[in-house]
Amino acid sequence: MTGSIPVITVNQRGAARLRGGHVWVYRSDLAPSVDAPAGALVQVRDERGKRLGSALYSSASQIAIRLVSGEEIAEEALPDLLRSRIAGAIGFRQRSVHDTDSYRGIFSEADLLPGLIVDKYNDVLAMQALTQAFDRDDLRRVVLASLAEHFPDASVLERVDPHIRKLEELPARDSQLLRGERSSTIFTVNGVRFHFDGLSGQKTGAFLDQRENYAAAARYAHGEALDVFTYQGGFALHLARVCESVAAVDSSRPALEVAEQNEQLNRDQHRAGEIEWIEANAFDLLKDYATAGRQYETIVLDPPAFAKTKRAVPTALRGYKELNLRALKMLRPRGILVTCSCSFRVSEAEFLEMLGSAAADAGRVVRVLEKRGAAQDHPVLLNVPETAYLKCVISEVLT
Ligand code: SAH
Repeated sequence: MTGSIPVITVNQRGAARLRGGHVWVYRSDLAPSVDAPAGALVQVRDERGKRLGSALYSSASQIAIRLVSGEEIAEEALPDLLRSRIAGAIGFRQRSVHDTDSYRGIFSEADLLPGLIVDKYNDVLAMQALTQAFDRDDLRRVVLASLAEHFPDASVLERVDPHIRKLEELPARDSQLLRGERSSTIFTVNGVRFHFDGLSGQKTGAFLDQRENYAAAARYAHGEALDVFTYQGGFALHLARVCESVAAVDSSRPALEVAEQNEQLNRDQHRAGEIEWIEANAFDLLKDYATAGRQYETIVLDPPAFAKTKRAVPTALRGYKELNLRALKMLRPRGILVTCSCSFRVSEAEFLEMLGSAAADAGRVVRVLEKRGAAQDHPVLLNVPETAYLKCVISEVLT
């Protein structure tokens, strides 16, 4: 059944990790001599020879194996397994995603396709291969044929992250169109339109994981609003439909240029005047605004991941606290704070504790309205904490 498939032995810690439901084993938890080609399907065994399943192997990454099945499967069975997993992933979105033509169609580990991401932007699919295995020609063909079957009219492009290709020791490659002619389009999220361009110099895209949080934020938002870390205007454009005024801040000028173009796309929908796009460092701006006594009814904080490693967590929590403290001070009574963290290293409990401590220091009484995560098309796989990275807490300042 297993033919000539390489066998990889993992140590006790690696075996315990897999038995605990995670799908990764780090290189340091493999037996010393590994004889498997880059990107191969391998059979995983513990030190006693017990079978733990089949995995995709990387000869370069610290994440050496990613389990694809708890059963030992043959190489010939891999294409069928991928096809059925892709069908499962797409079917799940078709049942659970509403109010948009855009969503993450395949989310790596969370769809049991570790190393593969496919985002759908209206009629353009953007594929990312994160591992040696999904860079294999034969597996790419299987994935592309499946995508063509599920989305016959969509163009497909590959988005390359040069850093990831380097980590996987894959030859450099540019982002490219793989099928069809469109690499850009306009897509719609909760009725708000956005530009997508997967190939041009000024790449655009979206944080699709915030889709349901945009709608949730708009349910509570009112008055004068401030969207901090706006990127291409995700929250700001939603707030503009319900708020009197919106100011939106980011340190990236290219991101704000796309945000302004997105604003033009939605001209007909604004309740109020223009959104004010501000290029600034968020920490400095919040400090200046707080000192100047500015006040708002709604503030959104959606910073980049502050804690990329475990060691960075305490510093990250201090950063989150500084932002949230200043925001809470600037909110008028009945004001709404929408505060996010996309560091999986910072747990929801730690994030709420930070927020509580910021509220106490700001002397505000704060009620939590909703504790949210990523949109449903970014599902969480139990026992794989990396898939539960996004926190979005919506709260109301009472006094
Ligand atoms: N809210 C956005 C996503 C934000 S991503 C959305 O829903 O689409 C994080 C953003 O923070 C990026 O656009 C990045 O340019 C910006 N950023 C990073 N550091 C910053 C800083 N110190 N000040 C202001 N913006 C910053």
